[in-house]
Amino acid sequence: MDTEIKERLERLRAELPASVKLVAVSKFHPVEVLRAAYDAGQRVFGESRVQELVSKHEALPGDIEWHFIGHLQQNKVKYIAPFVRLIHAVDSLKLLAEIDKQARRCDRVIPCLLQLHVAAEESKYGFTPEECRAMLSGGEWRELHHVAIVGMMCMATNTYDTERVRRDFHDAYLFYKEAKRDFFAQCPAFHERSWGMSHDYPLAIQEGATIVRIGTNIFGPREY
Ligand SMILES: *Cc1c(COP(=O)(O)O)cnc(C)c1O
Repeated sequence: MDTEIKERLERLRAELPASVKLVAVSKFHPVEVLRAAYDAGQRVFGESRVQELVSKHEALPGDIEWHFIGHLQQNKVKYIAPFVRLIHAVDSLKLLAEIDKQARRCDRVIPCLLQLHVAAEESKYGFTPEECRAMLSGGEWRELHHVAIVGMMCMATNTYDTERVRRDFHDAYLFYKEAKRDFFAQCPAFHERSWGMSHDYPLAIQEGATIVRIGTNIFGPREY
């Protein structure tokens, strides 16, 4: 198992452009499995449940960069605020304000991505481009000095129709560029695009991803 993880990581790293960051999505896998990836040189891990992230953070070496990639409930922000390095899926101004509040208590600035809803599936999560534009135009986020909005995140439609998947990523990229022009032109930190998972990351990279979030292709299938 350990050599398999190492080989899969090496294959992925050889394939990804140097400018694309690999987040190893380790949710539902036990610490020993993460340790194998760590020993193979992986330092960036993504988790989608707060309690699991906190306990893995405590169990594993301190030089890991922990990303929170799932839907984040406001009342749980405080548990990850001391150490989380990137929150991928901010989908409301209220959540952003709570992250700001908890980051201030820790004397930190927490980098965040805004989650865009571009997929065909109904979802409660993520801003539509219109909602995101309205939130950014409101300007309240400019008063939040303990969060840094560093880019956008999305998930494409879960389908074998690669043209649809490409279009979802492309829509996200177009909105990213619009937001960059209209709201973040003076902000070089705003440059990240987190899209692409095990089954669609090659397309995501073609459509401008700077971060890919890959679980199954590294760790194998998850048991829920
Ligand atoms: C689980 C998850 C991934 C990784 O999915 P794989 O198909 O296993 O690569 C990526 N992003 C998010 C938001 C996830 O929840």
